[in-house]
Amino acid sequence: MRPGLVLRPDRDRSVRRRHPWIFSGAIARVEGRPAAGAVVDVRAADGTWLAAAEFNPVSQIRARAFCWEPDRPIDATFWRERLQASIARRQRLLPHREACRLVFAESDGLPGLIVDRYGRYLVLQTLTAGAEARKTQTVADLVSLLDPLGIWQRDDPVRRKEGLPPAEGLLYGALPAEPIVIGEHGHRFLVDLRRGQKTGFYLDQAENRALLAPYCAGAEVLNAFSYTGAFAVYALAAGARHVVNLDSSAEALALAAANLQLNGFAATRWTNLEADVFVQLRRWREEGRQFDLIILDPPKFVTAPEHLERATRGYKDINWLALRLLRPGGLLATFSCSGLVDRDLFQKIVFAAALDAGREVRIVTHFGQAPDHPVLLTFPEAAYLKGLLCHVE
Ligand code: SAH
Repeated sequence: MRPGLVLRPDRDRSVRRRHPWIFSGAIARVEGRPAAGAVVDVRAADGTWLAAAEFNPVSQIRARAFCWEPDRPIDATFWRERLQASIARRQRLLPHREACRLVFAESDGLPGLIVDRYGRYLVLQTLTAGAEARKTQTVADLVSLLDPLGIWQRDDPVRRKEGLPPAEGLLYGALPAEPIVIGEHGHRFLVDLRRGQKTGFYLDQAENRALLAPYCAGAEVLNAFSYTGAFAVYALAAGARHVVNLDSSAEALALAAANLQLNGFAATRWTNLEADVFVQLRRWREEGRQFDLIILDPPKFVTAPEHLERATRGYKDINWLALRLLRPGGLLATFSCSGLVDRDLFQKIVFAAALDAGREVRIVTHFGQAPDHPVLLTFPEAAYLKGLLCHVE
């Protein structure tokens, strides 16, 4: 018999509605002595079986439910099939994408597991005790399903919330010493799987880069929070007159320069600037510098609910500044990847920024996350990336 969790009366609604997260406050008692990452049976107060979940005694999210079929054995075959199904979804959704997220954790029924494919290499993250416990099996399954040249694990700070130590390194095969080259919508990008941010590249923006590209034709573009210049490559390919990549990371900008060269753009068409966006936009405001199109793709400002207010001010500030640097008729592509800032709140922030900047703004397009980051309908928390394309008078 598996160990079990019994929920408090009236605290079973969310699990019945197939939401995967079970918070400590919903639990009446734990039966048996489940280790971190162990599979447990979740029952309602009256004893009704509700779901199978992975347990973690140190996380606020005490258990993550992943199976609602009572008689389903949770064995090696079960996990392998989940992985296969996850890979099959990408084959259906993005059949020709060289670099894409193959596993998006809870959204793919594999709590805490991230697997990104970069050509013949895979980058894996185990963000929960359960995913960590399944890691050896996951690697073996990935090897037999995909025959990769190498599998590399990347750490992520959210592991600490699960009581997991930093984990980074080679899990299988080998990794080349240099950044690898991947293709995306016909462009080529260098990706540093070991040292790059996230798992090396912002795969979640792939479709947004393509959506924005046609608006860049003939424009003087500011790519703020540029990272390795992915938006810049799309913009220049679509005929942008000039692009400034602005980022605080010298390493990211070095790769941006290499990417612009790799895609064949003359050095006269782009500039890289290492600076803090908050500071630089103010400086440009004072100098009267203007742009036709500004991209704002900041890092996650909110990692915990208590940071929401400060983050809201941060988003408003950069949007206010960007709006004031745009020529009349200019475009602002503004993003937030903070899950805790939902679409409504984000739109309100941009609205407040527009009011203060004294600009008349029209929403042209809503941006979301790429199809390899699908949102399981029972788990809306998976929707984290949102953006607005705004026409600014
Ligand atoms: N748009 C990019 C991804 C941006 S990630 C793409 O499509 O690939 C966010 C970037 O913001 C990172 O490269 C990080 O180095 C940079 N960054 C974070 N805080 C910053 C700040 N205050 N000023 C400038 N850059 C910053």
